[in-house]
Amino acid sequence: MGLMNCEIHGEIGVIPYVSKDLCQLILNKEKISPSKIKSIHVTFYDDGEVLLDRYYFFSIDLFNRLLLKEYYEIISDEDESIFTKLTREHLGVVCVGCFKDYMNNIGYKYKL
Ligand SMILES: [Zn+2]
Repeated sequence: MGLMNCEIHGEIGVIPYVSKDLCQLILNKEKISPSKIKSIHVTFYDDGEVLLDRYYFFSIDLFNRLLLKEYYEIISDEDESIFTKLTREHLGVVCVGCFKDYMNNIGYKYKL
């Protein structure tokens, strides 16, 4: 996980799994209803074993527009490339502290 220098939180980690439009709202501290945020749970497998679980966060508009699903299993390289192609250009980067502050502020229960 990379580091950034946040005006509020100083040198801190970033979350690269948040859609760009959501990143913008977080930066602007523009509150939206928690029901406008969709999290996507992705389980990565390696050789049949769970490697890691990761959560992505999308605005509901983008989630619907891209026809995303709430859960993905990434078993093969092909699965990974399909998921990456679908989401990559829409993902931005946001400070972990700002992300948590924002989500707590609007009352969105997240898992990281
Ligand atoms: Zn911050």
